[in-house]
Amino acid sequence: MQDVKIDIEYLKNLFIKGLIHLGIEPDEHKIYQFFTYLEILKEWNKKMNLTGIKNPEDIIIKHFLDSLTCTKIYRFFKGERVIDIGTGAGFPGIPVKVYFPEINLTLLEANKKKSDFLKYIKSALKLDRVEILWGRAEEYGRKAGYRNGYDVVLSRAVSELRILIELCLPLLRKEGVFIALKGKEIGEEIEKAENAISILGGKVVGVNKIILPFINQVRNLVIIEKEKCTPIRYPRGIGIPKKRPL
Ligand code: SAH
Repeated sequence: MQDVKIDIEYLKNLFIKGLIHLGIEPDEHKIYQFFTYLEILKEWNKKMNLTGIKNPEDIIIKHFLDSLTCTKIYRFFKGERVIDIGTGAGFPGIPVKVYFPEINLTLLEANKKKSDFLKYIKSALKLDRVEILWGRAEEYGRKAGYRNGYDVVLSRAVSELRILIELCLPLLRKEGVFIALKGKEIGEEIEKAENAISILGGKVVGVNKIILPFINQVRNLVIIEKEKCTPIRYPRGIGIPKKRPL
């Protein structure tokens, strides 16, 4: 019992230090929500392959803090419509929502079991104004009410940038921003995405390098603004953006 308590204290301190490192103010209620999330992730991970990262320390650093890096470079505001494409177990969307509860968040996930997990988390963390969509970006990018429907699109670890552009930009309103959470090597990926960015109506407005605390790993946040409307023929059908990248 004692060990478990020490462990939780250690993990909480680690999280708090990480938040401070990222310039985010620790908040008791929010930290409590994150630890509820951690417990449920651990439980569900025993039943299904929810995330490859299973160790609590890694979940805190590589999922929670990593997801929150985007709050360092973008100021989310009240009522903003934000969608996380291919959110998996909720990253980066849920950490962002916990820190900015006043946003309207949509989580889009193609895997049914993961979308069930997201519904469970939504209710366990008592999150309101969170919509969970089970489906594909190619499908929602063509649907009325979703296409051009968001101020901000977020996405992490779904695919390479040139494919992501076709999945994400159709959902953005004109002048909205797409934030891609990426790893260390990004230069070549951006170059290869130039064609897709120009076809879909985007423009790279920033590439922000951030060092993840404790593990000193480099992350790059690529910010793409939607300058022009996306031509009606995009996104192409399910699976095509990946099979035949622009
Ligand atoms: N963003 C999460 C999950 C990454 S794994 C994280 O960073 O931890 C990629 C996830 O994207 C998977 O859960 C997969 O089901 C989902 N996905 C892949 N292609 C998709 C598409 N076209 N539309 C919606 N979800 C998709």
